[in-house]
Amino acid sequence: MRYLVISDIHGNLEALDTVLAVVEGRYDKVLVLGDLVGYGADPNAVIDRVRGLEPYRVIRGNHDKVAAGLDDGESFNSVARSAVLWTYEALTPANREYLTKLPAGPQAVDDLVEICHGTPFDEDAYLFDDLDALRAFEAASRPVCLFGHTHVAVGFRYADSALEIVAGPGDTAGLVLEFAPEAKYLINAGSVGQPRDGDPRAGAAIVDVTARQIELFRIPYPIEEAQRKIRLAGLPEVLAKRLALGR
Ligand code: ZN
Repeated sequence: MRYLVISDIHGNLEALDTVLAVVEGRYDKVLVLGDLVGYGADPNAVIDRVRGLEPYRVIRGNHDKVAAGLDDGESFNSVARSAVLWTYEALTPANREYLTKLPAGPQAVDDLVEICHGTPFDEDAYLFDDLDALRAFEAASRPVCLFGHTHVAVGFRYADSALEIVAGPGDTAGLVLEFAPEAKYLINAGSVGQPRDGDPRAGAAIVDVTARQIELFRIPYPIEEAQRKIRLAGLPEVLAKRLALGR
């Protein structure tokens, strides 16, 4: 069984479509780790695309909750908040309803893999450093926990009471990690629609459960088109600029 792992699409249709085209035929089922919308100019088209994929698991992110009207977004900075309020207004009733019903993480996928948006102990917490990772390893229910939320591709491994970074942070293009039998892993494949690790290419991964490995991708996509749509929509200019910087 091979799962395509996508997270933090954030309304970026160009990035999502490019990723899907590149990995076509290489996976069996899809896992979506949240933040389908917010920041980008195509929330409805992205939700339609995700629904069309019939994901095996799809969980909500913090932006999905605000865009659905489940959370007031008071913790957001002003740029994120104005974008998510724009998204709330732009969504069709059917797509807003879809976001409303997305389950929270963590969610088990099978005996090997689970997914969460932020961490397995709190769907909205950020997993950046070793301390966050140790707490997440304690809370994880499966040997491999896939997460998103930070928009930074990174992989942590815990084995023999030792924590090690085995991927990233940052450029993880083409990296293949084999899952050792006695180890636990926390892996962020990066963000499809708004990378923030200095690499503007879309991040994604394919987990092969049978082969016990994950392959990480960074995929170039038509950034200028995504930027043009953000400007046309009247969304904050910084949201267009940061796509080219990967920040
Ligand atoms: Zn996000």
